[in-house]
Amino acid sequence: MCLSTYRKKRNFKSTPEPFGKSKRRTKQHIFVVQKHAAQRLHYDFRLELDGVLKSWAVPKGPSLNPSEKRLAVHVEDHPLDYASFEGTIPAGEYGGGTVLVWDRGTWTSTEPDDSLDRGKLTFRLKGEKLRGAWTLVRMKGQGNSKNWLLIKSRDEFADGSTDVTLESPRSVESGLTLEEFCDARKPSSEKSKNKASKVRSGPRR
Ligand code: MN
Repeated sequence: MCLSTYRKKRNFKSTPEPFGKSKRRTKQHIFVVQKHAAQRLHYDFRLELDGVLKSWAVPKGPSLNPSEKRLAVHVEDHPLDYASFEGTIPAGEYGGGTVLVWDRGTWTSTEPDDSLDRGKLTFRLKGEKLRGAWTLVRMKGQGNSKNWLLIKSRDEFADGSTDVTLESPRSVESGLTLEEFCDARKPSSEKSKNKASKVRSGPRR
């Protein structure tokens, strides 16, 4: 478990992402789901384990419906301080695009420590949007497949009728949607509101 792959992929002179302090432990293990408008929108699902964030890119995002198994592509470990990262990675950089903290909280599991290594972990989430029991399971493939499935277990938090990514699109950090976040970051001359008022009032002198 080390952050060298994470660091190799990034140019820290240009990305606002954290370099990552050395590993540290917290009392409760955190999880975070980041909504990432990269070339393709996806959700990055991260579980704290062994002092880093174990990470999966989930193209469709998590589903509360136990019969919707969501592809989760295993990616490099991220530093713990990535969990609060919200910002825009410059275009052309690795993962260029805006990242929002879509959900966060803590997770627990009663399963052995090596469950993830062996390809299947069931755990409980206590987040603002995601709660109850979930399973991550590695798909059978040639060798050590990077493709996993993220599946909601059947419990009182399962919900077959709500699309949680559509119903709850906002950041739990800033309260903003992706569109609002991007708009707030633009220089004021480019903001859509200002644009509209400039059109009405004519160019400023
Ligand atoms: Mn991502």
